[in-house]
Amino acid sequence: MERLQRVLKQAERFRANRERRSWQTTHRIADRHVPRVVSTLILEIRNTRRDVNLAALTRAVASGNVKGVEDALLIERMDANLKRNYSRQIRGVLNEAGAANVRLQPRALAGVFGRFDLTNPRAVQWANEKAATLVREVTEGQKATIRRVIAQGIDQGVPARSTGRRLRSAIGLTVRQWESVQNFQQKRLIAGDSIAQAELRAEKFAAKVHRRRAEVIARTETIDASVQGRLELWDQAEERGLIEGDATQRKWIVTPDDRLDSIICAPMSGQIRGLREPFLTGDGRLVMRPTAHPNCRCDVILIIPGTSVFEDVPEPEGRRRSRAAGLAAAAAAAALASRDAGGPAPGEES
Ligand SMILES: [Zn+2]
Repeated sequence: MERLQRVLKQAERFRANRERRSWQTTHRIADRHVPRVVSTLILEIRNTRRDVNLAALTRAVASGNVKGVEDALLIERMDANLKRNYSRQIRGVLNEAGAANVRLQPRALAGVFGRFDLTNPRAVQWANEKAATLVREVTEGQKATIRRVIAQGIDQGVPARSTGRRLRSAIGLTVRQWESVQNFQQKRLIAGDSIAQAELRAEKFAAKVHRRRAEVIARTETIDASVQGRLELWDQAEERGLIEGDATQRKWIVTPDDRLDSIICAPMSGQIRGLREPFLTGDGRLVMRPTAHPNCRCDVILIIPGTSVFEDVPEPEGRRRSRAAGLAAAAAAAALASRDAGGPAPGEES
């Protein structure tokens, strides 16, 4: 019995170890890409503001031509540049994650090793669609802000040129963010700043808002792509007949730290679903996979029922492999003993 306890404990350690290595891998790859993804949006906003022709913008405002305002604000160029850059960056994360995860997966997936297909059209398409969705949000937000600023200018009887300048400074901001920048500027004026001072401070405030927004996008999307790289690997494994979709399960893994969302993600810890079955979030939504919300850092791992947890260990080196093999043999013996005793088999997930 003592031997069984020891083996069960070891099985538990292997399981915890695998889960930790899993989200650590997802984060490590994502984190490495975050700075470049952050600067994509910041640079694009900066370049757009630099290249806007204020005279043309003012003319469009004066003539009430919203489409002309959008053109003068170079919306389409920003949209296209962001799409291209994000798509390339997301593809980079996908590829890296797919390759790294080959070494982290259950033994049954070992056949994909060295054959993970980096140029898979499905992965390319996923990256393109992801980038497009992301950029659409930015662009739609920008258009809403433009309409808001124009309407406000008309309400307040602001000259077209001032509205033009407001529009230029609103590039990269959602309506809510634009309002918070406006409020900030208003407060500075009340506090006694000159108009120029208040504008300068508002500019700096807006730059912070841009950065925060860019960071949320980057953190969320790099984790998302990192997880997707792993899912792509599973898809390729299924296509090669290495796993059976119907007989395979997935387990939701949370990152155990203070940045875990206590409402949405914490209750999802350990949730088990089929390969194509959605998870249920803490706030009652169905999601196929992490991420479950902006800044979500959750992960998902594969479980092949009926296999011992000892077959689930990562296999980075021979020493660990032989250790795992030894443990697997011990576990099999212990499982037999346990079955005789009516206890749980060590490979069973609770
Ligand atoms: Zn989460």
